[in-house]
Order: sequence, then structure tokens, then C-alpha cells
Amino acid sequence: MAIERTFSMIKPDATKRNLTGAITKMLEDAGLRVVASKRVWMSRREAEGFYAVHKDRPFFGELVEGMTSGPTVVQVLEGEGAILKNREIMGATNPANADEGTIRKVHALSIGENSVHGSDAPETAAQEIKYWFSDTEIVG
Ligand code: ADP
Repeated sequence: MAIERTFSMIKPDATKRNLTGAITKMLEDAGLRVVASKRVWMSRREAEGFYAVHKDRPFFGELVEGMTSGPTVVQVLEGEGAILKNREIMGATNPANADEGTIRKVHALSIGENSVHGSDAPETAAQEIKYWFSDTEIVG
């Protein structure tokens, strides 16, 4: 399988509970390598822009509130089949439906406070990496 890069976020519900290291360890243990990482406190504008695809969904307001409520750790992950691998280790959007041992099963509080984000396809991975990182910030 090809080496890919994907975009990941450790969301405010998780950083507030001091889970940055625990979640990063789960990603690393799954074979993913952190090739870029920074801690940001998103502005409303940044959160709305990042999640623009969801702007007409009923949960959009709650989503933007949550993402601007504390620090987020934005990361680029690299590895074989990184996009799908990251989605697998994250688990289902709703932690109630997530498989045992996944990040969301272990750490998420609810569908709204579900601890992590991960790109779902090569196109979104490229867009999302570009939204948060310049090329020189990614060190493979
Ligand atoms: P994923 O993050 O698994 O790719 P989606 O792209 O469907 O999931 O949704 C983006 C984010 O919006 C979710 O991770 C979650 O934080 C939030 N979200 C989705 N559905 C709901 C919902 N019904 N109620 C509250 N928040 C939601």
C-alpha cells in the first residue's frame, strides 16, 4: 500500500482532559507517524471555514461552539494507507457505535465531543492539510 498523508485533529474536549499524549500514542502505535503538529485555538471563522461542508446541518452551531471552546492539536500523519488507517483507529463518529479499542470508544464523550477528526479521502486530506499547514511545517 502507498505511503499517504492525512490530516488529524485532537479536539478541545480531549485537550481539555489532557489526552493529547494518550491519543497521539494510539496513533503512533497504529503505525502512523506525526510529521507536523501544532496547538491552535481556533477562531469562529477558522472553525466555520474548516467545517463549511456541514454548514446546513442542524449540529453546525454546536460543532463550531465545541471547536472554539479550547485548544485543538492539528496534525499531519504519515504512513502506509494512512487515511483509512486513521479512520479505523478513530472509530465511528458516535462513540456508542465505535469498535472496542478505538480512540472514540476509549476517550470520546458523545457524538458532539468525539475527541478526534480525521480526513475521509485523499482529496479532503490534501485540502485539510493545506488549510492548517504550509509545506515547510511538514517534516517527514
Ligand atoms: P466524522 O468526524 O466521523 O468524519 P462527520 O464528518 O459526519 O463525522 O461530522 C463531523 C463532526 O460533526 C463529527 O465528528 C462530530 O463532532 C460532529 N457531529 C456530527 N454529527 C453530529 C450530531 N448529530 N450531533 C452533534 N455533533 C455531530
